[in-house]
Amino acid sequence: MTESHHAYESVMGLEIHARLKTKTKMFCNCSNETWKTRPNEHICPVCAGFPGALPVANTEAVYLGRKMGLALGCSLRKISKFDRKSYFYPDLPAGFQISQYDEPICEHGKLRVIVNGEEKFFGITRLHLENDAGKLTHSGSISLVDWNRAGSPLAEMVTEPDFRTPTEVSSFLKELQRILRLCDISDADMEKGMMRCDVNVSVRPKGQEKLGTKVEMKNMNSFRNIEKALEYEIARQIKLYEEGKQNEIKQETRGWDDEKGKTVLQRSKEEAMDYRYFPEPDLPPLTVTEEEIHTLKKEIPELPAEKIVRIMQSGISFTDADILASELEITNFYEAVNQKCNDPKKSANWVLGAIMSYRNEHSQFSLSSFSPEHLGTLITIIDEGIISGKIAKEIFEEVMTNNIDPRKFVQEKGLGQLSNTGELEEICEKVLQENQNIVEDYTRGKEKAFGALVGKVMAITKGKANPSIVNEILKKLLLKAV
Ligand code: ADP
Ligand code: ZN
Ligand code: MG
Repeated sequence: MTESHHAYESVMGLEIHARLKTKTKMFCNCSNETWKTRPNEHICPVCAGFPGALPVANTEAVYLGRKMGLALGCSLRKISKFDRKSYFYPDLPAGFQISQYDEPICEHGKLRVIVNGEEKFFGITRLHLENDAGKLTHSGSISLVDWNRAGSPLAEMVTEPDFRTPTEVSSFLKELQRILRLCDISDADMEKGMMRCDVNVSVRPKGQEKLGTKVEMKNMNSFRNIEKALEYEIARQIKLYEEGKQNEIKQETRGWDDEKGKTVLQRSKEEAMDYRYFPEPDLPPLTVTEEEIHTLKKEIPELPAEKIVRIMQSGISFTDADILASELEITNFYEAVNQKCNDPKKSANWVLGAIMSYRNEHSQFSLSSFSPEHLGTLITIIDEGIISGKIAKEIFEEVMTNNIDPRKFVQEKGLGQLSNTGELEEICEKVLQENQNIVEDYTRGKEKAFGALVGKVMAITKGKANPSIVNEILKKLLLKAV
């Protein structure tokens, strides 16, 4: 960044579509699991837009939309309605989309996101339901249309212009993706179009309250591309400001050209369409009661950012807490380990270290086949001095894969550390007697000689002697020897 970037501030707001994970489509009974099938296999008069076919709102989609709204801190509207948004495009068979215009199901939310370890909040303006369009494939002079996706349920959410950096945007999107998966609302894969994002971005001189003219970048399909496109677009707009050409920043749609590494004009606002919104005559308004809202709220689990903050409170770094909170399976495992050994730091170290590397090396592995209690016990018996950390690492895999209680395992295999002082004293005395030359070195001030003596004891006990007890005994005996 050049010095002059400090004179300007970038402002961003997002419009995000999430494809809801329902069994059937938004307004008909066609299957919503359409990616498994051949083109145009899941269509009916409703989703193919036949005149006179009657839509019925999918209660599962309404439920998931509301759940998503609540997870984003929105309030639910007691009454909301559907509206027709008319436009013509070959992938939209009815010639209109059923969406929600002025009375969306959810509004006024706020989402907590941890950005580079710092807690931030971003406002959600609204969330509404609508149906998706079909898919066009262009090949030479022909175009093919597949309406399988037409009528799939989408939740569209709009944020406030609360973002100031590309990192804030990508952190928000990652958090949203985690939430959608955690609550089983959407698969939220950006590459597969399950989560699609339009990014609005403008620039203004620092200190100016009025927002600058925004540019919209549509259908960004990866976090990385969003960051790259934003960095480019912000720099482009700042440059225009610096050259006194800020009037050349036009309200337009630009696309990200990944090969060229720049944004390119797609559509200017002059060509913007009038959608002629009007209330959908074929669908009754949606209503929800206080009791229903109350019940729904209980279904929202602890969200990743809340989890991260809670885990950090037990002394874990943000980077570690972030990974521990990234998947429910990992969080639950970590918490069960900690429950057993009551040592958050060591639990985190073992889960992020040994457990994660085991998981990375075994692709079919599921954490549910490991017992977190056994790992907790393993940590406890290191703490109690029964085994060394080194032995623990050695037996970890065998204990976990065979589901054996480590305390029993250590006892049966005789792997416990030698902590019996009497026994160790005998060994130490023997070592001193047999290594008079090393003892002399030590008494002449050669500090390293001490380590050599410890090494001898370890060799005799095959590494099982408790090192701190050995140190103590050797020091005591050597003091007498002097
Ligand atoms: P439009 O009427 O063009 O659809 P909206 O006011 O509905 O614009 O906002 C659409 C999205 O753009 C929202 O996410 C909003 O936060 C964001 N937005 C609005 N104005 C700006 C701006 N000047 N700079 C950046 N983002 C903006
Ligand atoms: Zn259908
Ligand atoms: Mg708008």
